Amino acid sequence: MDKIFEAIKTERQKQDDKFGIQNHNPMEWVAILSEELGEVSKEALEYYFTINGKMNTGLNSNEKIEFQNNKLKLYRKELIQLAAVAVNMIESLDRNELKKK
Ligand SMILES: [Mg+2]
Repeated sequence: MDKIFEAIKTERQKQDDKFGIQNHNPMEWVAILSEELGEVSKEALEYYFTINGKMNTGLNSNEKIEFQNNKLKLYRKELIQLAAVAVNMIESLDRNELKKK
């Protein structure tokens, strides 16, 4: 689990490096989180549809296995990004809306 939390922490820092400190309202954050969830869903779907043969990739069997493994790695990467956005949301909430109370 430590390895996963470390990856989320690294991704959180990347977000700050890219966008600076982000202060959004809850509705804006939910839209940002939903965009990330869409990316998680895309990788899961493409993996699913290639393992059950419902997506024609035009790849031979070895290439298909490589494609599927890549999809799982991308799925994991997107999950880390999703978790990092959720952490960012909590930080923003604590810094803004909850601080005013
Ligand atoms: Mg993403």
